[in-house]
Order: sequence, then structure tokens, then C-alpha cells
Amino acid sequence: MSEQGINMNENAQGDVVSKNFIEQIIDKDLAEGTYDTVVTRFPPEPNGYLHIGHAKSILLNYGLAQQYHGKFNMRFDDTNPTKEKEEFVESIKADIEWLGADWEDRLFFASDYFDKMYEIAVKLIKKGKAYVSDLSADEIRQYRGTLTEAGKEDPYSTRSIEENLKLFEEMRDGRYSDGEKVLRARIDMASPNMNMRDPVIYRVAHMSHHRTGDKWCIYPMYDFAHPIEDAVEGVTHSICTLEFEDHRPLYDWVVREAEFPNPPKQIEFAKLYLTNVVTGKRYIKKLVEDGIVDGWDDPRLVSIAALKRRGFTPESIKRFVELCGVSKANSSTDYAMLEYCIREDLKLKKPRMMAALDPIKLIIDNYPVGQTEYLEIPNNLENEALGTRQVPFCRELYIDRDDFMEEPPKKYFRLFPGNEVRLMSAYFVKCVGFEKDEDGKVTTVHCTYDPETKQGSGFNARKVKGTIHWVPAPYAVKAEVRLYENIIDEEKGVYNEDGSLNLNPNSLTVLKDCCLEPALKDAKPYDSFQFVRQGFFNVDSRDSRPDALVFNRIVSLKSSFVLPK
Ligand code: ATP
Ligand code: MG
Repeated sequence: MSEQGINMNENAQGDVVSKNFIEQIIDKDLAEGTYDTVVTRFPPEPNGYLHIGHAKSILLNYGLAQQYHGKFNMRFDDTNPTKEKEEFVESIKADIEWLGADWEDRLFFASDYFDKMYEIAVKLIKKGKAYVSDLSADEIRQYRGTLTEAGKEDPYSTRSIEENLKLFEEMRDGRYSDGEKVLRARIDMASPNMNMRDPVIYRVAHMSHHRTGDKWCIYPMYDFAHPIEDAVEGVTHSICTLEFEDHRPLYDWVVREAEFPNPPKQIEFAKLYLTNVVTGKRYIKKLVEDGIVDGWDDPRLVSIAALKRRGFTPESIKRFVELCGVSKANSSTDYAMLEYCIREDLKLKKPRMMAALDPIKLIIDNYPVGQTEYLEIPNNLENEALGTRQVPFCRELYIDRDDFMEEPPKKYFRLFPGNEVRLMSAYFVKCVGFEKDEDGKVTTVHCTYDPETKQGSGFNARKVKGTIHWVPAPYAVKAEVRLYENIIDEEKGVYNEDGSLNLNPNSLTVLKDCCLEPALKDAKPYDSFQFVRQGFFNVDSRDSRPDALVFNRIVSLKSSFVLPK
């Protein structure tokens, strides 16, 4: 607790910020003795990869457990065998580990509680709080009524306790086909809350489960299973997103009727949405299945696997989630804020290298043929600790195409005929000519250099306005570089008239013949660098090979984003 008062916290940056509404609830619960500890959990369904929204939930739950010296449970909510896959269990674990949320030995599977759930269902039947119904799914829907109209009693709700016990046991023993019978909680068919109108809590489904195999042919429904999972694990604060607000009375009903001694409480917060990208497992899945992106970790996606592959760091995501805060109101966060966080994180940590993404030759006509000298260049001007490197310099270099113009507009200070510029950390060169191919594209720029202007030689007699980066041609490392734009351009609308996503056709640009300075030769997957003027890049973990490097642009350097106060 900070000196500023009980409702304040200090964040990782050392700023004092007011406590969010969840922290205030926890403080009150601890002060009043409702709970004497804090146990949170992250409960993903293993039916897809995690995305940035889940990262928020993970870091929130893990962060609260840490802050209150409590416990954080990792629990797979694997109660629905239709959609679940082992593949997702592994990817989810890897993503959470990467984010740094440590569940220690507290890894749980909801399917381990199937016996307990069955036992509680039997208990409810014995208390007269649940009954077996033969209504079909359609009939249940019709009987449920509407928001303005009360539901009708289920004609099977008058079955005796004995009959219900017998039928439920028969359901478990496989005597009925899928959909033939269900178990319903007996609550209130006239409740204004539709979730309370005798919800189905068990269904028959003859399906194999990825962990329990064929042991069960009845499976619990989410609203019944989830509160039990929380209670069994001793969770205190069950944090979920706003769409479950209307389910809270049912959550409370289940833990009360199951007679858990110190039941958990559900707290809802608003989901994280980002502009210009696709969040939501369903939409990401569709892009993957339709082959619009190259798998769940396509760098244009915001799945955690994709963010990692693109070159985001756990630190940048933590900072982002912290800046987003926790709220009860739905809103979309600007994607530019995520970009701001990764730029800030990498700025001082990564070396600045030179790369010509669209290279043209620069020949220094008066530099000796066959000579190479080595120039010592600092790796990061703002962080001396990153040291220096030796870069070969010689007669033939590559520069970026847009650093030369035959007919420059006003205020263009880079190379054009007759103009002198500084080659970064090297010499001044003056453009004395250029060559074009038959299509009129510039292929080579000719310059002369002034040996007196060597870096660090103290030469200061004249000034030049432009500095350009360069790569020594005989030593250049060839690489493929992939540039990304947002997958959706929200200014043009998220959806088309037919309801499909309005995808940005320019979301991926592949540059095949980029030339990088030789220090990048041994770059390994996930290594990241700043390329002068171009942004931050990392080595693609999927497609890069030692002799055919592939880089992803993580983020460009420029931004109009301003950190909200
Ligand atoms: P999606 O809506 O993307 O399909 P989901 O809710 O079906 O996700 P789960 O595996 O059920 O995915 O989610 C696990 C946890 O993550 C839940 O507690 C859920 O509330 C939380 N969560 C899911 N999406 C977001 C989001 N966008 N922002 C914050 N938390 C989220
Ligand atoms: Mg869900």
C-alpha cells in the first residue's frame, strides 16, 4: 500500500495510480474477513489459441495473486468435448509461460472434477432442486418464454425425486441417445433473468473426451460446471468478462445449493478490444481456416503466438495491459498503443543496424578498387552499454532506393545530382552521376567521397543536411523482409455489406532482395534489431534459414500516437 492512501497503487514504472475496481473489492473482502487469502485463476477452453485479450485476463489474474501474496491457478475448462483438442492445451501452456505467468504446481483440468459435478447434480436432485426433462432443445426454448413473457413450467418438472435419481443414473449409464433427456435446475420459470428459468445443467452426449475418454456420456453445462470448478479449487475471486454478468445469479445459486462453505464470487470486467485487428477466437479461426493468413501465428494476427513470432516481448504486452487498465465499460483500444509499447521496450535494448530494403548500388568512383577498411560504429547511440561493431567500408555499397532522387522536391536533403550527404558513421559523398536500366529505373548512383571527412576525424569545415545509411555490397547479407499493415482498415469499415470482414489487401508486403550489413549474418530466430529509419525487425521463427534469412517488421519508427494521460 502506498503512502498516498489505501486506494492507490504503484505501477512498474513507479507511478502512483488509483486502484482499479477489482482491487477495491478484494481490499474490502480481506478487510471484512470474507476471505483471508486471494486465489485467482485463468480458465481457458482448449479450443483455439490465446490472443491479446486473453493476455489481459492472464496478467490481471496472475498480477492480483502476486500483489496479494495469494495463488494463481491455471485451469483448462475442458467440459465440452466437441471442440477441444490436445494441440491447444500445449499451445496455451506455452503462451502463458512465455507471458511469465507462473502457475507453479497449480495446473488443473475441469474434467478432473466430473465425478464431483455428478455428485453435486445428484445432491440437487435429492434436494428437489433438479429434475430430468424429456423436452427437446427446441421445446425447451419455446417453454422458456421471452424477455417480456414468463416461461412455462416444464411438464416433466413434477417427476418424483426417486424417478429423477433413477433417470439421471440411466442417463449416465448410456441408456439414452444425445438430446433425449437433460437434467434441469429447478429455479424459477418466471424469473426476469432468462438464465434462471430452469437452466439445463447436464446433457447426454456420446462423445470421447480428450482426457476422460469414454468414461462419460453425459457432460455438464458451462454455467453449472464453472462455479463448481472455482469452488473445488478454493478460488476466491472468479474474474470473467462482462457477458457473464447476467449469469452471476446462476453462479451464486450453484455454489449456494451445492453448499460450498466459503464460495467464490464472480467479478466481471470489460473485454479488451483492439482497433484494426481481429480479436476473438472465432474470427481468428475463420481467417486461419479460410487460408487468408498463414496459420494461428501469422504475424498479422494478435494471437499470443503471432505476437511472439512478430517480435513483441512479454514486457511490451505487460506494459500495454497495464496502460489499458481494468474497466466495466466496453471500448476499443488503439492498436497504436500496442505499437508504442513495443517501440519503448526495444528502443534501448536493441542494436541499430543498416539495411537497404529496396537496394540500389552506390559506387564511390574515387575510392580505391579492392580496398576495404573497417569502421567502428556504435550499436545504440542512446545506450553505450550495447558497445560497437566493425563494419566494412569499400567502393561499392548499397543504399535504399528512396535515398536518391533524380529530380528532388524541395526539402529533399538526401542524394541527388550535385548534392553532398553523409554516409552514416563513414564519409561525406557527393553525387556525380547515375545509371538507369531500359525501364528507366535507377540502378546505380555514382559519387565521389572526401577522405578528409572520415567519422571521428574532427572534420567540421562544412555541413551537410542529409545522412543516409548504407551496406557494403561485397559483404551484404541478402534477406527477405516482410512488412505488415493492419489486417483491417477500420476507417473503411470493419465489415462488408455481406457481413464478411473488410480485409486490407496490403496487409503483407514481401521484399525478396534486401541487403543487410554483415553483422546480421548469424541472426537467429526471435533475434530483433532496429534497422535505421525502417523500424524494428526480428528473425522469423518459422521461415528463416541460416542461408536464407527472413525478417518481420515488428513496428515502424514513426507514430502519431500520444500516450493518454
Ligand atoms: P473468445 O471470445 O475470443 O472466443 P473466449 O471467451 O471464448 O474467447 P475462453 O477460453 O473461454 O475464450 O477465455 C478464457 C478467459 O479469457 C475467460 O475468463 C474470458 O473471459 C477471458 N477473455 C476472453 N477474451 C477476452 C478479452 N478480449 N479480453 C479480456 N479477457 C478475455
Ligand atoms: Mg468462452
